[in-house]
Amino acid sequence: MTHDLLSRIPTGLFIDGTWQDASDGSTFAVHDPATGDVLVEVSSATAADGLRALDAADRARADWAATPPRQRAELLRAAFDLLQERRDDFALLMTLEMGKPLAEANGEVTYGGEFLRWFAEEAVRIGGSYGTNPEGSGRTIVSHKPVGPAYLITPWNFPLAMATRKIAPALAAGCTVVVKPAELTPLTTLLFVDLLREVGVPDGVVNVVPTSDAKAVSAPILDDRRLRKLSFTGSTPVGRSLLAQASENVLRTSMELGGNAPFLVFADADLDEAVAGALAAKFRNTGQACTAANRFLVHEDVAAEFADRLTARVEAMRVGPGTEDGVAIGPLIDDRAVAKADRLVTDAVERGAVVRTGGHPIDGPGTFYAPTVLTDVQPGSAILTDEIFGPVLAIATFATDDEAITRANDTEYGLVAYAFTEDPARGQRLMERLETGMLGLNTGVVSNASAPFGGVKQSGMGREGGAEGISEYLETMYTLTPDPFRKRSTTTTGDAR
Ligand code: ADP
Repeated sequence: MTHDLLSRIPTGLFIDGTWQDASDGSTFAVHDPATGDVLVEVSSATAADGLRALDAADRARADWAATPPRQRAELLRAAFDLLQERRDDFALLMTLEMGKPLAEANGEVTYGGEFLRWFAEEAVRIGGSYGTNPEGSGRTIVSHKPVGPAYLITPWNFPLAMATRKIAPALAAGCTVVVKPAELTPLTTLLFVDLLREVGVPDGVVNVVPTSDAKAVSAPILDDRRLRKLSFTGSTPVGRSLLAQASENVLRTSMELGGNAPFLVFADADLDEAVAGALAAKFRNTGQACTAANRFLVHEDVAAEFADRLTARVEAMRVGPGTEDGVAIGPLIDDRAVAKADRLVTDAVERGAVVRTGGHPIDGPGTFYAPTVLTDVQPGSAILTDEIFGPVLAIATFATDDEAITRANDTEYGLVAYAFTEDPARGQRLMERLETGMLGLNTGVVSNASAPFGGVKQSGMGREGGAEGISEYLETMYTLTPDPFRKRSTTTTGDAR
């Protein structure tokens, strides 16, 4: 099954509707993090290939913008339907190249697919407005146009959903795109783009340039005046550098960057719900999500009980290749990720944290780290400020609501927060005071295609999904014109009203 699937994955660049090799013939290897084995070799775009992809997107730009919204919507809907039929291929491929357990990969096909369906529905609802100015002397017509060719850079941790979350709204809005998938997990994007070709997305509308040299390919594209939009999901340092490059041509930008999500458990929380939420918020994707809960702040009266229940559940988690039945914790993406988790745990323990379970890498093959629960994490520990991106759950305690909120906000990030309380008024106070783009109130999962995903502070700008998602790819313009009645009154019939 695996071999059969891999033999069907396109491994080239997709430019102007055709699969092709890199112009210098170079390739790079994609690995299975559960075994370290090479899955396939993929063409590695050069800077010139990247510009050829932009040429194609630019050539297709006008026709695609003029394609009736209903037609664009139907293509996205057809892609949604075909993705459901091919669900097993996409799920297995994600597990192979990224490592997530197969059940979660299936969940990502559902989640990622929803962006196609949602934006198919949004494509036909790009509105505008017509209004009278306050003086009554004129009319203002507000309309929206596609911003133009967009460059989409995606991360490795959600290989399908991060691609559909950008491609679907761009296409719905009438923009053509160049996609640069993460070099660690490009295969799902390649398979998905072939599906878009199959349902009939016109040549040049979607182009894909996998590469082992993201910087070399991206810089000339960002430097080219034909590009009008950059959408990036990845780390804050890379995002910062891309924002600086994007400033040269004053590009529209959407930036989904890092997070340091607090997970607050108040004394009045339903602890069963809080434990279930904690497991979802921490261990989904083996902790490798920008929405992963990073800091557990638990009221001192319930902290021991919360940690005991959680530890029992974490000890029962099966670790192994994501393709095996019942596995809850897959491999981390690479050696660096394992080393980082281990460094953060070691630092926390040296500063006084207690290891309740886990706390160590697991010998290979593959890059595994044992699911870990730490309690008594002390202020000043790096684990409270760095993004862990691994299956390590770090618990500290608080005494008052003010302390919890102050500590939750004490970070340069502001992507997501989680809070468990049975008191609706407390929940509402949190909603008002937490500095975050998203709040999971009594839930450990916030992502939904219909909701405007995104962060505040250094977690980024712009929103993906929801009604907001399509506006990231639309320009707003207005036309001002005189009051038609008053104008006529000065020349012919007097006051026509
Ligand atoms: P991570 O550390 O999680 O891999 P990155 O921010 O490094 O996150 O990567 C996210 C995406 O950004 C990937 O597609 C990667 O190839 C791309 N990327 C990394 N560095 C650059 C760069 N200098 N220019 C453009 N894209 C980059």
